[in-house]
Amino acid sequence: MADEVVIDAIINGEKYKAEEQKPRENPAHPDEVVGYAPVNTKEDTIKAIDAAHNAFPDWRRSSIDDRIERMRRAIQTIKDKTPEIVELLAREHGKPLYDAEGEIGVSLAWMEFACDNVKDVLAKKVEEHDDGGRTIIARDAIGVVSAISPWNYPISLSTIKIAPALLAGNTMVLKPSPLAPLAVSKVAEFVADEFPPGVMNLVHGEADVGVELTSNENVAKIAFTGGTETAKDIMKSAADTIKNMTLELGGNDAAIVLDDFDVDDKKAMRRLVISNFLTAGQICMIAKRVYVDRKIYDKFVEKYIEAANEWIRVGDPFGDNVTIGAVNNKKQMKVVQDLIDDAKRKGADVVKLGKVLDQDLYDEGYFMQPTAVLGAGYDDPIVVEEQFGPTVPILPFDDDEHALELANDSIYGLTSSVWGKEEHAVEIASRIQAGTTMINTAAVQGLDVRFPFGGVKQSGVGREYGKEGLLAYAETHIINLPDQLSLPYIPD
Ligand code: NAD
Repeated sequence: MADEVVIDAIINGEKYKAEEQKPRENPAHPDEVVGYAPVNTKEDTIKAIDAAHNAFPDWRRSSIDDRIERMRRAIQTIKDKTPEIVELLAREHGKPLYDAEGEIGVSLAWMEFACDNVKDVLAKKVEEHDDGGRTIIARDAIGVVSAISPWNYPISLSTIKIAPALLAGNTMVLKPSPLAPLAVSKVAEFVADEFPPGVMNLVHGEADVGVELTSNENVAKIAFTGGTETAKDIMKSAADTIKNMTLELGGNDAAIVLDDFDVDDKKAMRRLVISNFLTAGQICMIAKRVYVDRKIYDKFVEKYIEAANEWIRVGDPFGDNVTIGAVNNKKQMKVVQDLIDDAKRKGADVVKLGKVLDQDLYDEGYFMQPTAVLGAGYDDPIVVEEQFGPTVPILPFDDDEHALELANDSIYGLTSSVWGKEEHAVEIASRIQAGTTMINTAAVQGLDVRFPFGGVKQSGVGREYGKEGLLAYAETHIINLPDQLSLPYIPD
């Protein structure tokens, strides 16, 4: 068994010992403690915010080249340490090694994109006007950023905030989720080591820490990824001091399978299965409801089950040949199981997919064999709510208009996908209410960090990734030198 990892908070460039430490279990072997993360208090959090606040005036004046150089050194350390980060992430999270590696890959790709593009995106621009006036468009750092991240992709959903925030001249306090606190803290430590004290701070804890981070008057921006309900509390908490916010929230992403989708295309079918079950379905942008044209529904279901049975191999995150590991925590398992049980009670058919590789381990850990739910009602909770786990309802639709109606009938609008002949799919895609729509692929498979990512409706506010994801960490500051300094119609 590997050594237990002990994480501390980082405040003003120093490791900070909390009075209490909380164990993090291994979801595949719940008796095993992977390590300990601090339970920071409100007072610790204030210290971290103060450190970030005090570091801000100097950091905002630092040169962009210096910031990029520091970030590139942090990226190199993360690359050098990737094998140990991946192992730790798989142990504390429950996701298989290949999946943990994928998470580090996306994180690094984004951090590199941010370094490569930040200078250009945030460069001061000057517009000379025909009338002789001039306008300077500057991008100023915002201040202290409170970054709050979830457990499902703890590293990539933290680095998505860290890289642009620090590169733009902000300082930060990061609070990861207690359900996957260890590997991300290592990454935060590697970053903090490269930056002046107070620029990158790290605290851990529960909602009380979150409340301080989102209400403290010295915090200027909140960058939050997590549940929609939590975001409502955060908005209330931030209301008194009107903070800048980027919110990446829940989703209930529809996949629309058109009548011209080739059900015999095994590769496409496997991509669809992966877009339902990667990371045991615990991804905000997983395809969580599949709507299939009635004309091909029966054939589709038959071929889908074949593809799923081939790809899905549930087992130890460290096991060879495993595609799906454990669910991250017991509470999430119950949420998913309750939705499945409810659908079953209402008469749906729940089809088990794939193989369980080791039954003893399966019984010991937080494992769930993936399922497809057939015959659920359009308004059943399994369809309407975000399952965030390894189950997916597959439902027929009558025609394209019906499919669009079903897909758009949701409080969410994060991503979505359309499967079929490209031109037809693009036409349907343009009518879906979502931040991203992918054609013939979905979820992380179709993610491109060069372009903005985020939700509409209750799936979020603002964008991460892409150039917009860099601009999100700067305030536009217009310095205006008009030719005509006073207006002609104002009397002397
Ligand atoms: P969560 O909302 O329970 O927790 C997210 C973070 O918020 C954690 O660090 C948590 O400790 C903290 N928190 C809890 N209460 C708080 C409060 N009152 N104030 C401030 N912070 C508080 O979410 P989760 O269970 O960790 O993650 C799953 C959810 O995240 C799903 O809904 C998923 O769709 C969503 N998610 C969205 C995206 C996206 O990019 N849109 C990405 C991943 C996950």
